[in-house]
Amino acid sequence: MDFEAVIGLEVHAQLLTKSKIFCSCSTEFGAAPNSHVCPVCCGMPGSLPVLNKRVVEFAIKLALATNARINPVSVFARKNYFYPDLPKGYQISQYELPLAEGGYIEIEVDGQKKKVGLVRIHMEEDAGKLIHDEARPVSYVDLNRTGVPLLEIVSEPDMRSPEEAVAYLKKLRSILRYLEICDGNMEEGSLRCDANISVRPRGSEKFGTKVELKNMNSFKHVQKALEYEIKRQIALILDGKEVIQETRLFDVARGVTQSMRGKEEAHDYRYFPDPDLVPVEISEHWIREIADTLPELPDAKKKRFMEEFGLPAYDAEIITSSRKLAEFFEACCKNFPKPKLVSNWIMTEVLRELNKEGKEIHETKLTPEHFVELLKLLDEGVISSTIAKQIFPEVYQGRSPKEIVEEKGLKQENDEDALRAICQKIVEAHPKEVEKYRQGKKNVIGFFVGQVMRETRGKANPKLVNKILTELLEA
Ligand SMILES: [Zn+2]
Repeated sequence: MDFEAVIGLEVHAQLLTKSKIFCSCSTEFGAAPNSHVCPVCCGMPGSLPVLNKRVVEFAIKLALATNARINPVSVFARKNYFYPDLPKGYQISQYELPLAEGGYIEIEVDGQKKKVGLVRIHMEEDAGKLIHDEARPVSYVDLNRTGVPLLEIVSEPDMRSPEEAVAYLKKLRSILRYLEICDGNMEEGSLRCDANISVRPRGSEKFGTKVELKNMNSFKHVQKALEYEIKRQIALILDGKEVIQETRLFDVARGVTQSMRGKEEAHDYRYFPDPDLVPVEISEHWIREIADTLPELPDAKKKRFMEEFGLPAYDAEIITSSRKLAEFFEACCKNFPKPKLVSNWIMTEVLRELNKEGKEIHETKLTPEHFVELLKLLDEGVISSTIAKQIFPEVYQGRSPKEIVEEKGLKQENDEDALRAICQKIVEAHPKEVEKYRQGKKNVIGFFVGQVMRETRGKANPKLVNKILTELLEA
């Protein structure tokens, strides 16, 4: 039997406001435990929450960017549960009337475009953090995170494979970053993802029993956890067993999911409107004002880069996945209108360094000026591409390519007579390879080019070397 997966994602995005959602405490990460707290976020009786306007503004931005319908009136509700990281005994969230409903995010997997629908976007506060002592049977609580603003983004169960789920998550993160409302760092927990997943025979309309997956803090974990869960559920069904509705945790070390709690333990949160907070009214005027400040978003930018710079869809997708990278690319093309060369180098050398360090382009010392200088040296034949690649790590560290080339004497050897002499010497030294070439093994020329490059320490102009070697070998 052929099965398909049905996946919906619930994403929590921590907002980049300076202060918390209902008090003026700082949201800064990394402070000493319990130093960013006040009676409001500590849940002291008698203290009253006051809504941070910036949180609503950020939520409206995301709603506009995802084509969601903004409710003119939305309501904060209390989600009641008892846990030591939640001093009030309830979390302030939105329930019946969320900030926004509907909308969609467009994804592309294997060249297939698809709209993933959104159920809702709502605002809520984060809980504190428990730190369990490894040595002693005690736990500590840090309330710095209590009251940090979150947006919860709930998708429709529109995704049919782990690849689609990852593409959705990446696109959502990219939008959040373009809007500069969330840093999107999954490892540090500022972007968290839970998944609802079930399987059903392909073609069936009825949903299977769904399982909730938690604890996936990287794109790779999301992919692995979903893959594992699909296999597990299909195996159960084929065995004539039942999939149980439950919450499962992804065990990173073992690459499996494990039962955390069943439905019978599911919470009844006893939601009710928070009497301490008035309904949130959002005027058309305010929405229009915010709409005017929205940046060009990833999809629009990708389309424009394909039209304006003639980039292939693949290049445009990668370069526009980060707003800063896209800005870097545009800055380079302004002074060096060879977009394909710029994008090739960004997608290989630049991304390799960025991924190595886990950084974004603006967090490095690489400037568009230096990068263009390097590409110009290469394009004008002053240095070979071997040398360009060789010195790139230094350029990435903030050095001027011109200076490096001068200092180390790396200028490309373009003197035809000098190169001919070297080529002649190499050809004479390898009669066996010459014989192979003349018997029709034309790719032996690569061997000769390699030898010449070694002899010249990468400085020889490869085009010229190829030309001379062909002449000598064909002679
Ligand atoms: Zn506070």
